[in-house]
Amino acid sequence: MSKVMAVNAGSSSLKFKLYEMPEEKVLCSGNVERIGLEDAIFGMKWGNESEKKILPVKDHAKGVELVIQGMLEHGIVQDMNEIVAVGHRIVQGGKYFSKSELFDEDTEAKIESLIPLAPLHNKAHLVGFRAFKQILPNVVHVAVFDTAFHQTMAPEDYIFPIPKEFTEKYDCRRYGAHGTSHKFLAQEGAKYLPGVEHPRIISCHIGSGASITAIKDGKCVATSMGLTPLGGIMMGTRTGDLDPSVMNYLCKCTGISVEEMYQIFNKKSGFLGVSAVSNDSRDVLAAAAAGNKDAQLSLRLFTRRIADFIGQYFVRLGGADLIIFSAGIGENSWEAREEICKEIAPALGLSIDYEFNKTLRGKEGQISKPDSKIKVVIIPTDEEVMIARDTYAFYMK
Ligand code: ADP
Repeated sequence: MSKVMAVNAGSSSLKFKLYEMPEEKVLCSGNVERIGLEDAIFGMKWGNESEKKILPVKDHAKGVELVIQGMLEHGIVQDMNEIVAVGHRIVQGGKYFSKSELFDEDTEAKIESLIPLAPLHNKAHLVGFRAFKQILPNVVHVAVFDTAFHQTMAPEDYIFPIPKEFTEKYDCRRYGAHGTSHKFLAQEGAKYLPGVEHPRIISCHIGSGASITAIKDGKCVATSMGLTPLGGIMMGTRTGDLDPSVMNYLCKCTGISVEEMYQIFNKKSGFLGVSAVSNDSRDVLAAAAAGNKDAQLSLRLFTRRIADFIGQYFVRLGGADLIIFSAGIGENSWEAREEICKEIAPALGLSIDYEFNKTLRGKEGQISKPDSKIKVVIIPTDEEVMIARDTYAFYMK
Protein backbone atom coordinates (compact mmCIF):
# COMPACT_ATOMS: atom_id res chain seq x y z
CA MET A 1 0.00 0.00 0.00
CA SER A 2 1.38 3.40 -0.99
CA LYS A 3 0.17 6.90 -0.34
CA VAL A 4 0.13 9.08 -3.43
CA MET A 5 -0.92 12.72 -3.58
CA ALA A 6 -2.58 14.47 -6.54
CA VAL A 7 -2.01 18.21 -6.60
CA ASN A 8 -3.51 21.05 -8.58
CA ALA A 9 -1.74 24.33 -7.91
CA GLY A 10 -3.25 27.59 -9.09
CA SER A 11 -1.88 31.09 -8.72
CA SER A 12 -3.46 31.53 -5.29
CA SER A 13 -4.72 28.06 -4.49
CA LEU A 14 -3.57 24.53 -3.86
CA LYS A 15 -5.98 21.61 -4.23
CA PHE A 16 -4.89 18.21 -3.03
CA LYS A 17 -6.13 14.65 -2.64
CA LEU A 18 -4.29 11.83 -0.94
CA TYR A 19 -4.86 8.27 -2.18
CA GLU A 20 -3.99 4.84 -0.95
CA MET A 21 -2.77 3.14 -4.11
CA PRO A 22 -3.36 0.91 -5.95
CA GLU A 23 -6.77 0.67 -4.22
CA GLU A 24 -7.53 4.28 -5.23
CA LYS A 25 -8.98 4.87 -1.79
CA VAL A 26 -9.29 8.59 -0.99
CA LEU A 27 -7.69 9.23 2.42
CA CYS A 28 -8.24 12.97 2.47
CA SER A 29 -8.75 15.94 0.21
CA GLY A 30 -8.70 19.68 0.56
CA ASN A 31 -7.78 23.08 -0.61
CA VAL A 32 -5.73 26.09 0.41
CA GLU A 33 -7.35 29.19 -1.08
CA ARG A 34 -6.36 32.87 -1.15
CA ILE A 35 -2.65 32.08 -0.77
CA GLY A 36 -0.70 35.30 -0.25
CA LEU A 37 -3.41 36.90 1.91
CA GLU A 38 -3.83 37.36 5.64
CA ASP A 39 -7.20 35.60 5.55
CA ALA A 40 -6.37 32.55 3.49
CA ILE A 41 -8.61 29.50 3.87
CA PHE A 42 -7.41 25.99 4.57
CA GLY A 43 -9.97 23.24 4.28
CA MET A 44 -9.55 19.50 4.58
CA LYS A 45 -11.91 16.52 4.59
CA TRP A 46 -11.19 12.98 5.72
CA GLY A 47 -13.65 10.18 6.39
CA ASN A 48 -16.75 11.91 7.73
CA GLU A 49 -14.76 14.72 9.28
CA SER A 50 -13.61 18.06 8.06
CA GLU A 51 -11.87 21.19 9.24
CA LYS A 52 -11.65 24.75 8.00
CA LYS A 53 -9.25 27.43 9.18
CA ILE A 54 -8.81 31.05 8.23
CA LEU A 55 -5.22 32.15 8.68
CA PRO A 56 -2.40 34.00 6.96
CA VAL A 57 -0.65 31.91 4.28
CA LYS A 58 2.15 33.91 2.81
CA ASP A 59 3.09 31.61 -0.06
CA HIS A 60 2.65 28.15 -1.56
CA ALA A 61 5.43 26.67 0.61
CA LYS A 62 3.45 27.69 3.69
CA GLY A 63 0.38 26.14 2.05
CA VAL A 64 2.17 22.84 1.56
CA GLU A 65 3.32 22.91 5.19
CA LEU A 66 -0.28 23.34 6.30
CA VAL A 67 -1.41 20.41 4.17
CA ILE A 68 1.26 18.09 5.58
CA GLN A 69 0.68 19.31 9.15
CA GLY A 70 -3.06 18.71 8.75
CA MET A 71 -2.45 15.15 7.59
CA LEU A 72 -0.13 14.46 10.53
CA GLU A 73 -2.40 16.12 13.08
CA HIS A 74 -5.41 14.05 12.08
CA GLY A 75 -3.48 10.80 11.86
CA ILE A 76 -3.98 10.42 8.10
CA VAL A 77 -0.25 9.86 7.88
CA GLN A 78 1.98 9.05 10.88
CA ASP A 79 5.07 10.34 9.14
CA MET A 80 5.26 12.47 6.03
CA ASN A 81 7.67 9.97 4.49
CA GLU A 82 4.67 7.68 4.02
CA ILE A 83 3.81 9.82 1.00
CA VAL A 84 5.78 8.11 -1.74
CA ALA A 85 4.85 10.20 -4.76
CA VAL A 86 3.21 13.47 -5.73
CA GLY A 87 1.49 14.01 -9.09
CA HIS A 88 1.20 17.60 -10.29
CA ARG A 89 -1.45 18.74 -12.73
CA ILE A 90 0.07 20.82 -15.54
CA VAL A 91 -2.24 22.60 -17.98
CA GLN A 92 0.17 23.04 -20.88
CA GLY A 93 2.69 20.41 -21.97
CA GLY A 94 3.05 21.82 -25.48
CA LYS A 95 4.65 19.60 -28.11
CA TYR A 96 7.04 18.06 -25.58
CA PHE A 97 4.82 15.78 -23.56
CA SER A 98 2.59 13.06 -24.94
CA LYS A 99 2.37 11.31 -21.57
CA SER A 100 2.99 12.00 -17.90
CA GLU A 101 6.66 12.51 -17.06
CA LEU A 102 9.01 12.41 -14.11
CA PHE A 103 9.26 15.95 -12.76
CA ASP A 104 13.03 16.35 -13.09
CA GLU A 105 15.06 19.39 -14.09
CA ASP A 106 14.48 18.83 -17.79
CA THR A 107 10.69 18.60 -17.31
CA GLU A 108 10.78 21.70 -15.13
CA ALA A 109 12.70 23.66 -17.79
CA LYS A 110 10.28 22.60 -20.53
CA ILE A 111 7.24 23.57 -18.45
CA GLU A 112 8.88 26.93 -17.81
CA SER A 113 9.52 27.42 -21.53
CA LEU A 114 5.80 26.83 -22.14
CA ILE A 115 4.69 29.69 -19.89
CA PRO A 116 3.89 31.94 -22.88
CA LEU A 117 1.27 29.39 -23.99
CA ALA A 118 -0.41 29.25 -20.56
CA PRO A 119 0.84 32.25 -18.59
CA LEU A 120 -1.32 31.95 -15.50
CA HIS A 121 -1.43 28.20 -15.23
CA ASN A 122 2.07 26.91 -15.92
CA LYS A 123 3.67 29.57 -13.77
CA ALA A 124 1.42 28.66 -10.84
CA HIS A 125 2.04 24.93 -11.35
CA LEU A 126 5.80 25.53 -11.10
CA VAL A 127 5.40 27.54 -7.90
CA GLY A 128 3.32 24.68 -6.46
CA PHE A 129 5.79 22.03 -7.59
CA ARG A 130 8.78 23.89 -6.10
CA ALA A 131 6.98 24.29 -2.80
CA PHE A 132 6.27 20.54 -2.64
CA LYS A 133 9.78 19.64 -3.77
CA GLN A 134 11.21 21.76 -0.97
CA ILE A 135 9.15 19.98 1.68
CA LEU A 136 9.14 16.50 0.13
CA PRO A 137 12.53 16.43 -1.68
CA ASN A 138 13.00 12.68 -1.75
CA VAL A 139 9.70 11.45 -3.14
CA VAL A 140 8.82 10.79 -6.78
CA HIS A 141 7.31 13.89 -8.39
CA VAL A 142 5.38 13.42 -11.62
CA ALA A 143 4.00 16.00 -14.06
CA VAL A 144 0.61 15.09 -15.53
CA PHE A 145 -0.36 17.23 -18.50
CA ASP A 146 -3.85 18.31 -19.61
CA THR A 147 -2.59 18.38 -23.17
CA ALA A 148 -0.74 15.04 -23.27
CA PHE A 149 -3.74 12.89 -24.24
CA HIS A 150 -4.31 15.06 -27.33
CA GLN A 151 -0.79 14.63 -28.72
CA THR A 152 -1.93 11.69 -30.83
CA MET A 153 -3.85 14.02 -33.19
CA ALA A 154 -2.75 14.01 -36.83
CA PRO A 155 -1.32 17.25 -38.26
CA GLU A 156 -4.51 17.89 -40.23
CA ASP A 157 -6.36 17.86 -36.92
CA TYR A 158 -4.03 20.17 -35.02
CA ILE A 159 -2.52 22.56 -37.57
CA PHE A 160 -4.20 25.93 -38.02
CA PRO A 161 -4.35 27.25 -41.59
CA ILE A 162 -1.96 30.12 -40.88
CA PRO A 163 1.42 30.86 -42.47
CA LYS A 164 3.70 27.92 -41.85
CA GLU A 165 6.40 30.08 -40.25
CA PHE A 166 3.98 30.99 -37.41
CA THR A 167 3.19 27.37 -36.78
CA GLU A 168 6.86 26.44 -36.73
CA LYS A 169 8.43 29.42 -35.03
CA TYR A 170 5.82 29.95 -32.32
CA ASP A 171 4.40 26.44 -31.99
CA CYS A 172 1.00 27.97 -32.67
CA ARG A 173 -1.36 24.99 -33.07
CA ARG A 174 -4.20 23.13 -31.42
CA TYR A 175 -3.18 21.52 -28.12
CA GLY A 176 -6.60 20.90 -26.56
CA ALA A 177 -7.29 20.70 -22.84
CA HIS A 178 -9.04 18.49 -20.24
CA GLY A 179 -6.91 15.64 -21.60
CA THR A 180 -6.61 13.94 -18.21
CA SER A 181 -10.40 13.88 -17.96
CA HIS A 182 -10.91 12.61 -21.52
CA LYS A 183 -8.31 9.89 -20.92
CA PHE A 184 -10.12 8.84 -17.74
CA LEU A 185 -13.47 8.83 -19.57
CA ALA A 186 -12.02 6.77 -22.43
CA GLN A 187 -10.71 4.19 -19.95
CA GLU A 188 -13.95 4.03 -17.96
CA GLY A 189 -16.11 4.15 -21.09
CA ALA A 190 -14.37 1.09 -22.55
CA LYS A 191 -16.30 -1.14 -20.13
CA TYR A 192 -19.53 -0.28 -21.99
CA LEU A 193 -18.05 -1.66 -25.20
CA PRO A 194 -17.08 -5.28 -24.56
CA GLY A 195 -16.08 -7.06 -27.75
CA VAL A 196 -15.95 -3.86 -29.83
CA GLU A 197 -12.71 -4.19 -31.76
CA HIS A 198 -11.97 -0.52 -32.47
CA PRO A 199 -14.04 1.49 -30.00
CA ARG A 200 -15.10 4.97 -31.16
CA ILE A 201 -15.97 7.30 -28.31
CA ILE A 202 -17.14 10.91 -28.24
CA SER A 203 -16.51 12.30 -24.76
CA CYS A 204 -18.22 15.51 -23.71
CA HIS A 205 -16.55 17.16 -20.72
CA ILE A 206 -19.00 19.97 -20.11
CA GLY A 207 -18.55 22.09 -17.01
CA SER A 208 -17.73 25.80 -16.76
CA GLY A 209 -14.90 24.94 -19.11
CA ALA A 210 -16.05 22.50 -21.77
CA SER A 211 -14.48 20.38 -24.46
CA ILE A 212 -15.42 17.48 -26.68
CA THR A 213 -13.02 14.81 -27.85
CA ALA A 214 -13.15 12.13 -30.52
CA ILE A 215 -11.38 8.98 -29.35
CA LYS A 216 -10.54 5.88 -31.36
CA ASP A 217 -8.83 2.82 -29.88
CA GLY A 218 -8.28 4.79 -26.67
CA LYS A 219 -6.42 7.58 -28.48
CA CYS A 220 -7.49 11.15 -29.16
CA VAL A 221 -8.02 11.88 -32.84
CA ALA A 222 -9.63 15.32 -32.50
CA THR A 223 -10.59 17.73 -29.76
CA SER A 224 -12.57 20.95 -29.66
CA MET A 225 -10.30 23.24 -27.64
CA GLY A 226 -7.54 24.94 -29.56
CA LEU A 227 -4.30 26.74 -28.77
CA THR A 228 -5.83 27.61 -25.40
CA PRO A 229 -8.99 26.62 -23.52
CA LEU A 230 -10.84 29.51 -25.18
CA GLY A 231 -11.60 27.52 -28.32
CA GLY A 232 -14.28 24.98 -29.22
CA ILE A 233 -17.79 25.08 -27.82
CA MET A 234 -19.35 27.98 -25.93
CA MET A 235 -18.72 27.86 -22.16
CA GLY A 236 -19.66 29.55 -18.87
CA THR A 237 -17.75 32.74 -19.66
CA ARG A 238 -15.78 31.84 -22.80
CA THR A 239 -16.83 32.29 -26.41
CA GLY A 240 -15.52 29.05 -27.88
CA ASP A 241 -14.78 29.21 -31.62
CA LEU A 242 -15.49 32.50 -33.39
CA ASP A 243 -14.83 33.92 -36.80
CA PRO A 244 -11.38 35.47 -36.15
CA SER A 245 -12.65 38.73 -37.69
CA VAL A 246 -14.86 39.26 -34.65
CA MET A 247 -11.80 40.38 -32.68
CA ASN A 248 -10.69 42.92 -35.28
CA TYR A 249 -14.21 44.21 -35.95
CA LEU A 250 -15.18 44.68 -32.31
CA CYS A 251 -11.87 46.30 -31.38
CA LYS A 252 -12.41 48.81 -34.20
CA CYS A 253 -16.06 49.44 -33.26
CA THR A 254 -15.47 49.86 -29.54
CA GLY A 255 -11.91 51.18 -29.31
CA ILE A 256 -11.23 48.42 -26.79
CA SER A 257 -7.70 46.99 -27.02
CA VAL A 258 -6.97 43.48 -28.30
CA GLU A 259 -5.83 42.44 -24.84
CA GLU A 260 -8.98 43.73 -23.18
CA MET A 261 -11.20 42.15 -25.81
CA TYR A 262 -9.35 38.87 -25.28
CA GLN A 263 -10.24 39.11 -21.57
CA ILE A 264 -13.89 39.77 -22.53
CA PHE A 265 -13.89 36.68 -24.77
CA ASN A 266 -12.46 34.68 -21.84
CA LYS A 267 -14.35 36.08 -18.87
CA LYS A 268 -17.49 37.88 -19.97
CA SER A 269 -18.83 35.83 -22.86
CA GLY A 270 -20.47 32.42 -23.14
CA PHE A 271 -23.51 31.89 -20.90
CA LEU A 272 -22.72 35.07 -19.00
CA GLY A 273 -22.41 37.21 -22.10
CA VAL A 274 -25.40 35.92 -24.04
CA SER A 275 -27.84 35.53 -21.14
CA ALA A 276 -26.62 38.53 -19.12
CA VAL A 277 -27.77 36.42 -16.16
CA SER A 278 -24.89 34.27 -14.96
CA ASN A 279 -22.00 32.05 -15.97
CA ASP A 280 -23.54 29.23 -13.95
CA SER A 281 -25.85 27.01 -15.97
CA ARG A 282 -28.10 26.50 -12.93
CA ASP A 283 -28.94 30.21 -12.82
CA VAL A 284 -29.36 30.31 -16.57
CA LEU A 285 -31.70 27.30 -16.51
CA ALA A 286 -33.77 28.91 -13.75
CA ALA A 287 -34.00 32.21 -15.65
CA ALA A 288 -34.92 30.38 -18.86
CA ALA A 289 -37.66 28.47 -17.04
CA ALA A 290 -38.99 31.79 -15.75
CA GLY A 291 -39.28 33.04 -19.33
CA ASN A 292 -36.04 35.02 -19.81
CA LYS A 293 -35.56 34.99 -23.59
CA ASP A 294 -31.81 35.70 -23.51
CA ALA A 295 -31.28 32.86 -21.06
CA GLN A 296 -33.29 30.57 -23.34
CA LEU A 297 -31.21 31.64 -26.34
CA SER A 298 -27.92 31.06 -24.48
CA LEU A 299 -29.00 27.51 -23.67
CA ARG A 300 -29.94 26.85 -27.29
CA LEU A 301 -26.59 28.24 -28.45
CA PHE A 302 -24.77 26.02 -25.98
CA THR A 303 -26.57 22.80 -26.91
CA ARG A 304 -26.37 23.59 -30.64
CA ARG A 305 -22.58 24.02 -30.49
CA ILE A 306 -22.23 20.72 -28.65
CA ALA A 307 -24.53 18.92 -31.08
CA ASP A 308 -22.51 20.32 -34.00
CA PHE A 309 -19.25 19.01 -32.56
CA ILE A 310 -20.76 15.60 -31.86
CA GLY A 311 -21.94 15.46 -35.48
CA GLN A 312 -18.52 16.49 -36.74
CA TYR A 313 -16.78 13.85 -34.63
CA PHE A 314 -19.28 11.18 -35.65
CA VAL A 315 -18.07 11.77 -39.20
CA ARG A 316 -14.42 12.07 -38.12
CA LEU A 317 -14.57 8.68 -36.38
CA GLY A 318 -16.53 7.00 -39.17
CA GLY A 319 -19.42 6.45 -36.73
CA ALA A 320 -19.51 6.16 -32.96
CA ASP A 321 -20.09 3.44 -30.37
CA LEU A 322 -20.36 5.54 -27.23
CA ILE A 323 -21.17 9.14 -26.27
CA ILE A 324 -20.15 10.15 -22.74
CA PHE A 325 -21.47 13.14 -20.79
CA SER A 326 -19.33 14.34 -17.90
CA ALA A 327 -18.24 17.30 -15.68
CA GLY A 328 -20.49 19.80 -13.86
CA ILE A 329 -23.17 20.22 -16.53
CA GLY A 330 -22.81 16.81 -18.21
CA GLU A 331 -23.15 14.99 -14.89
CA ASN A 332 -25.81 17.12 -13.26
CA SER A 333 -28.01 18.82 -15.80
CA TRP A 334 -30.60 16.44 -17.25
CA GLU A 335 -32.02 19.41 -19.14
CA ALA A 336 -28.79 20.06 -21.06
CA ARG A 337 -28.37 16.34 -21.83
CA GLU A 338 -31.96 16.09 -23.06
CA GLU A 339 -31.60 19.10 -25.36
CA ILE A 340 -28.32 17.83 -26.81
CA CYS A 341 -29.67 14.32 -27.34
CA LYS A 342 -32.82 15.66 -29.01
CA GLU A 343 -30.66 17.61 -31.44
CA ILE A 344 -28.54 14.65 -32.50
CA ALA A 345 -30.94 11.72 -32.07
CA PRO A 346 -32.64 11.80 -35.50
CA ALA A 347 -29.38 11.93 -37.47
CA LEU A 348 -27.41 9.49 -35.33
CA GLY A 349 -30.19 7.00 -34.61
CA LEU A 350 -30.20 7.52 -30.84
CA SER A 351 -32.94 6.10 -28.71
CA ILE A 352 -32.92 7.75 -25.27
CA ASP A 353 -34.80 6.99 -22.07
CA TYR A 354 -35.60 10.62 -21.27
CA GLU A 355 -37.41 9.73 -18.04
CA PHE A 356 -34.43 7.83 -16.72
CA ASN A 357 -32.17 10.69 -17.84
CA LYS A 358 -34.09 12.97 -15.47
CA THR A 359 -33.20 10.81 -12.51
CA LEU A 360 -29.44 10.85 -13.04
CA ARG A 361 -27.49 13.49 -11.20
CA GLY A 362 -23.80 13.20 -10.40
CA LYS A 363 -23.72 9.47 -10.88
CA GLU A 364 -22.89 6.98 -13.57
CA GLY A 365 -25.58 5.46 -15.76
CA GLN A 366 -26.67 4.59 -19.28
CA ILE A 367 -29.46 6.74 -20.69
CA SER A 368 -29.70 5.14 -24.13
CA LYS A 369 -32.15 2.30 -24.73
CA PRO A 370 -31.02 -1.08 -26.07
CA ASP A 371 -32.19 -0.20 -29.61
CA SER A 372 -30.06 2.97 -29.74
CA LYS A 373 -27.43 2.90 -32.50
CA ILE A 374 -24.95 4.53 -30.10
CA LYS A 375 -24.75 3.97 -26.36
CA VAL A 376 -25.08 7.19 -24.37
CA VAL A 377 -23.79 7.25 -20.80
CA ILE A 378 -23.01 9.59 -17.95
CA ILE A 379 -19.65 9.04 -16.25
CA PRO A 380 -18.53 11.37 -13.45
CA THR A 381 -15.02 12.44 -14.31
CA ASP A 382 -12.14 12.07 -11.89
CA GLU A 383 -9.01 13.88 -12.99
CA GLU A 384 -7.36 13.44 -9.58
CA VAL A 385 -7.55 9.66 -9.65
CA MET A 386 -6.09 9.71 -13.16
CA ILE A 387 -3.20 11.82 -11.83
CA ALA A 388 -2.76 9.37 -8.96
CA ARG A 389 -2.79 6.40 -11.36
CA ASP A 390 -0.11 7.89 -13.60
CA THR A 391 1.95 8.98 -10.62
CA TYR A 392 1.73 5.59 -8.94
CA ALA A 393 2.85 3.95 -12.20
CA PHE A 394 6.06 6.02 -12.08
CA TYR A 395 6.63 5.12 -8.45
CA MET A 396 6.29 1.42 -9.30
CA LYS A 397 8.77 1.61 -12.22
P1 ADP B 1 -14.96 23.50 -13.90
O1 ADP B 1 -14.25 22.29 -13.33
O2 ADP B 1 -14.70 23.71 -15.37
O3 ADP B 1 -14.79 24.74 -13.09
P2 ADP B 1 -17.35 22.01 -13.29
O4 ADP B 1 -17.10 20.78 -14.06
O5 ADP B 1 -17.27 21.94 -11.81
O6 ADP B 1 -16.49 23.22 -13.84
O7 ADP B 1 -18.78 22.55 -13.71
C1 ADP B 1 -19.32 23.67 -13.10
C2 ADP B 1 -20.63 23.98 -13.76
O8 ADP B 1 -21.50 22.84 -13.65
C3 ADP B 1 -21.35 25.09 -13.04
O9 ADP B 1 -21.06 26.32 -13.59
C4 ADP B 1 -22.78 24.76 -13.29
O10 ADP B 1 -23.14 25.46 -14.45
C5 ADP B 1 -22.82 23.28 -13.63
N1 ADP B 1 -23.61 22.52 -12.64
C6 ADP B 1 -23.20 22.01 -11.47
N2 ADP B 1 -24.21 21.41 -10.84
C7 ADP B 1 -25.30 21.54 -11.64
C8 ADP B 1 -26.66 21.14 -11.54
N3 ADP B 1 -27.10 20.47 -10.48
N4 ADP B 1 -27.48 21.44 -12.56
C9 ADP B 1 -27.03 22.11 -13.62
N5 ADP B 1 -25.77 22.53 -13.78
C10 ADP B 1 -24.91 22.25 -12.80
